[in-house]
Amino acid sequence: MSPTDPAAGAVLTARGITKSFDGQRVLDGIDLDLERGRVLTLIGPSGSGKTTMLRSLNGLEVPDAGTLEVGGVRVDFAGPVTQRTRDTLRDRSAMVFQHYNLFPHRTVLQNVTEGPVLVQRRPRAEVEVEAEALLDRVGLREKRDSYPFELSGGQQQRVGIVRALALRPQLLLFDEPTSALDPELVGEVLAVIKELADEGWTMVVVTHELSFARQVADEVVFLDGGRVIERGAPAQLFGAPRQERTKRFIERLT
Ligand code: ADP
Repeated sequence: MSPTDPAAGAVLTARGITKSFDGQRVLDGIDLDLERGRVLTLIGPSGSGKTTMLRSLNGLEVPDAGTLEVGGVRVDFAGPVTQRTRDTLRDRSAMVFQHYNLFPHRTVLQNVTEGPVLVQRRPRAEVEVEAEALLDRVGLREKRDSYPFELSGGQQQRVGIVRALALRPQLLLFDEPTSALDPELVGEVLAVIKELADEGWTMVVVTHELSFARQVADEVVFLDGGRVIERGAPAQLFGAPRQERTKRFIERLT
């Protein structure tokens, strides 16, 4: 299992991403850059726009303004954005959701193979072999025929991660992947994400787990009020934050 294209270069370039809901500005000109094989974590208080930003990268939200380049697909939100453009954007990245979002009436294996077979039109036999290998990697091969309700939260989230990997995305997006888990199950999911980071997957992780962010991130971006307040390497941002707001946020969570 490895990223589909090992060549170096920018996987993500976001400029001036702006989004309002009901007249309320939620993202106010966000710039992000991410090189292949690197990990960016987005942190910030509840309501600061982290999830909306992440969903914008994946075509699940359409910003009002700004430009986005993900895996070579460029979208300018100043113009009309078609469903086709959103689909293309979505094809470049894969999202791991806070609440797993598995299909409840499909088995583990069906959850993993559905996207590659039905959306990406890859041969089922080939996808199943790959899916089983991925499930094996996260210790869930024997659960292939189980249904989500038969699994623990940690196991469901590991299936969620495998489902994302099976899409062979250029960019992995994690939306607070452990915040719905019981504390004793958090470690097993973070361990899988850390392994993927060590393997060179390119990822954006929204998280409240600051010690995890410190361990895996190449860059940490602190959002507040829909703006980037500060960004930097974890040692700098956590160890010597430049902005008072960053400092207060870190102190509250640690
Ligand atoms: P975070 O992930 O940092 O908690 P979010 O991106 O979820 O922040 O939310 C930022 C703000 O946008 C919040 O005030 C939230 O209520 C609002 N918001 C998010 N999604 C929607 C939506 N679909 N409709 C209306 N308001 C929304």
